[in-house]
Amino acid sequence: MTTPFSIRETGAPRLLILGGTAEARELAAALAARRGFDVSLSLAGRTRNPLPSPAPTRSGGFGGAAGLAAHLKAERIDALVDATHPFAAIISRNAAQAAQSAGVPLLALLRPQWQCEPGDLWTQAATLPEAVEKLGPAPRRVLVALGRNEVRALEAAPQHHYLVRSIDPVEPPLDVPQASYIEARGPFAEEDERALLAAHRIDAILSKNSGGAATYGKITAARVLGIEVVMVARPVRPEVETVASVGEVLDWLETLRPAL
Ligand code: NAP
Repeated sequence: MTTPFSIRETGAPRLLILGGTAEARELAAALAARRGFDVSLSLAGRTRNPLPSPAPTRSGGFGGAAGLAAHLKAERIDALVDATHPFAAIISRNAAQAAQSAGVPLLALLRPQWQCEPGDLWTQAATLPEAVEKLGPAPRRVLVALGRNEVRALEAAPQHHYLVRSIDPVEPPLDVPQASYIEARGPFAEEDERALLAAHRIDAILSKNSGGAATYGKITAARVLGIEVVMVARPVRPEVETVASVGEVLDWLETLRPAL
């Protein structure tokens, strides 16, 4: 549900969280429990049925960095937290530019990336197209854990059989001869991931290095089963003060409070 900002007049410092992640929801919930900040959460509006929100929520883009800066000013936002997904590079860049031009303090909340551990069979790729290429010329059975907006990249390698898992359906289906689809929302337990990989005779996983616990199960399952993971590296992010946990954001807000 989208709540108009104009009715949120509590006199408390106004915080905007750019979300779309579990961390953003956790942060909003933690602040709701503590009170003291007038919190709103912003979603891009990509997921058809987003999870219930712990804070007043707006949905949809701002219209680039200039639009976000205008929003920060119009809504008299005192602090901005970029808690978007590590692969959401555009909104993070916009947040950095908008915060600077609007003079609003900005903190990024970014989960640490997964590290290749002993037993992992990772092939690193800098971009998604490179990862698709690195699956190689011979047909493989590939579990694909990508957003439905990214999966078109698979059409460049139609020789593989893809098992595509996404929150919302992939529409239209991929233009490849062999693909099957699962609609599911994490978290995914390692045990279930192992069963899925075995049942579909998967021999490669295409994954972004998203980090976090919710989708790590497929990585540890691949380690156990000796399955290759083609891992897409994170995009470059703007140079912004960054923390890795909700607790550190709460600390930052406390240090900021006297100035707000
Ligand atoms: P993106 O490429 O960085 O952003 C594209 C555009 O979407 C932005 O320019 C902005 O539009 C709008 N947007 C993105 N996040 C927004 C937010 N939180 N609130 C309002 N507008 C937002 O982003 P993306 O990779 O498409 O991801 C979209 C959303 O899904 C993000 O909120 C992200 O946290 C979440 N998500 C992404 C991934 C992923 O792998 N990329 C995975 C899980 C969740 P305007 O320029 O018009 O403001």
